[in-house]
Amino acid sequence: MLKATGALLSARDASLVINGRSILDKVNLDVRAGEIVTVIGPNGAGKSTLVRVMLGLQPLTSGEIVRHDRLRIGYVPQRFPLTANVPLDVRRLLTLTLKAGDAEIDEALQETGIPHLKRASVVSLSGGELQRALLARALLRKPELLVLDEAVQAVDFMGETKLYELIGSIRKRHGCGILMVSHDLHMVMAESDHVVCLNGHVCCEGGPATVQKDPEFIKLFGPAAARVIAAYTHHHDHDHDSADHCAHHHDHKH
Ligand code: ADP
Ligand code: MG
Repeated sequence: MLKATGALLSARDASLVINGRSILDKVNLDVRAGEIVTVIGPNGAGKSTLVRVMLGLQPLTSGEIVRHDRLRIGYVPQRFPLTANVPLDVRRLLTLTLKAGDAEIDEALQETGIPHLKRASVVSLSGGELQRALLARALLRKPELLVLDEAVQAVDFMGETKLYELIGSIRKRHGCGILMVSHDLHMVMAESDHVVCLNGHVCCEGGPATVQKDPEFIKLFGPAAARVIAAYTHHHDHDHDSADHCAHHHDHKH
């Protein structure tokens, strides 16, 4: 099956039920080498959970995850547990779970644009700097697949634009597949090859231009989202009134 689809990582009818509640319902998703796949959807849609099941961090109720043999994955989680009172510099953050020499560390920090922050305390970093440090950490694994969960969440608009450019250039340079989660739509649409709109189940999917016109996409994100390429504002309002499944547990933190 892998050879047929050429996928690095696939979900096949992936379903997850927790305490009788369906979190993921028969989700199918493939990420191929050199491809940027972006999962979008309102908060509580199951995006992070999908990432976690695809990485094997959480078991499924039914369905399966097919992972390319010995696939090297770099993962930037949505939240990184930082303890303010434990002194940790960027260099140490990068080598917590992986051995790496100074040359490699310098190269990774150079690539993500923060070579000057090697000795900086992690708690002193801005949101964007921390994301770049975590991205450098993921790159140290020489990933064939890079997985980013809301990596641009904590970043201001300028920083966000640059981070997406950086992700695009990483894909080009390393030729890795990228699985990205976001609920910010503008750059998602600009940088992604394939967009999956998730709300427990896959509501719609396809190329950015296709998804943008899909009634299911408009239902989830509101009519304004359809104009998102033309005019993106950071504090865009979403209209989820028609999205029954998630209406009571989403909040927007921009
Ligand atoms: P998203 O990333 O799209 O905002 P999540 O994947 O974080 O959504 O969460 C989807 C839903 O699944 C949420 O309602 C969340 O509370 C629930 N959920 C996720 N993991 C667990 C868990 N381990 N136990 C109970 N509920 C969970
Ligand atoms: Mg999430």
